[in-house]
Amino acid sequence: MTIGELLKTINTHVPFNTAESWDNVGLLIGDKANKVTGILTALDCTEEVVDEALNKGYNTIICHHPLIFKGIKNITQQEGYGLIIRKLIKHDINLIALHTNLDVYPKGVNAMLSDKLGLEKQQILNPEIISYYKVQVFIPEENLNDFKDVLSEAGVAQEGGYRYCFFESLGIGQFKPVDNADPHIGEKGQISHVQEYKLEFMIDHTQKTLTQDLIIQHHPYETPVYDFIELTKQANYGLGMIGKLNEVMTVEKFVSHVKERLKMPSVRFSGDLNANIETVAIVGGSGIGFEYTASHKGADIFVTGDIKHHDALDAKIAGVNLLDINHYSEYVMREGLCQLLEDWMNEDDKIFNIEASEINTDPFEYL
Ligand SMILES: [Zn+2]
Repeated sequence: MTIGELLKTINTHVPFNTAESWDNVGLLIGDKANKVTGILTALDCTEEVVDEALNKGYNTIICHHPLIFKGIKNITQQEGYGLIIRKLIKHDINLIALHTNLDVYPKGVNAMLSDKLGLEKQQILNPEIISYYKVQVFIPEENLNDFKDVLSEAGVAQEGGYRYCFFESLGIGQFKPVDNADPHIGEKGQISHVQEYKLEFMIDHTQKTLTQDLIIQHHPYETPVYDFIELTKQANYGLGMIGKLNEVMTVEKFVSHVKERLKMPSVRFSGDLNANIETVAIVGGSGIGFEYTASHKGADIFVTGDIKHHDALDAKIAGVNLLDINHYSEYVMREGLCQLLEDWMNEDDKIFNIEASEINTDPFEYL
């Protein structure tokens, strides 16, 4: 399996275009033509993680946090991340980042954390809203099939794994060419009745200009009639997870349950210490901003990392319980991603090892 084929497999399940616009996912360093000799999964790509891959003879590291993220001014042995980047390139190690695209995946980081906490009846906390257009074009029968071919070949009118997704219905179009018109059908000053098809199809919100250009270029009429109707739908992916514990717990019991399951030496609670916890919402990493969504959806506590003083105080005053499990708790993705990769690959492709890094990349010491 080449790196290019691996990326294709990954993209089928956690599409890179589902990552946030500010994110940096995909192949960050490497060569798509390289053959995969082994995969190491890690939360962060530190120098120790690169050494671990080298020692194991694996040429591919898949990380959650992108190594190349903020503007890098130089790649030198002495400064910042340059040393790691140089080491990766020197040893021909491929580095792939699966970040927010893995966060929003229904079996991604938040599902992995929820599984660890034993949450049942899991549902996506904040499903993404996809915007798209329904397009309708009116076209004479004789031009219909060629027109559909052109649209389909350009990549529009696709739904998931299906191409050529059109609906057509027959009707009577009518028009009277006047003034400077140069009609494809009919004569000036005369009302023409033409059997026309109303062709309907869906396009992604990014395909509007492309589709409009195709209609203008390939429709036989001087002034084609078409509409773009903007619509939205809920995606089957999104950030966070909400689910239920199999028993109601006190805050004290829930906290020790979380610490034990996530092997976290310390967590921070904010809110009502006498609360009962049954419904739990979780956003791995840095999820502040979703605590009120969680509360509205019935969560007794919102679990995330990187909570700041004022966010905690605001939530406490609003009666929303928070638990900071540290950003590093996302390390559960190392094992979780190995399992996903195993599931996504064909038996024939599994000629190399897929292993979770053993390196702790938590920058904090819990003293
Ligand atoms: Zn993170």
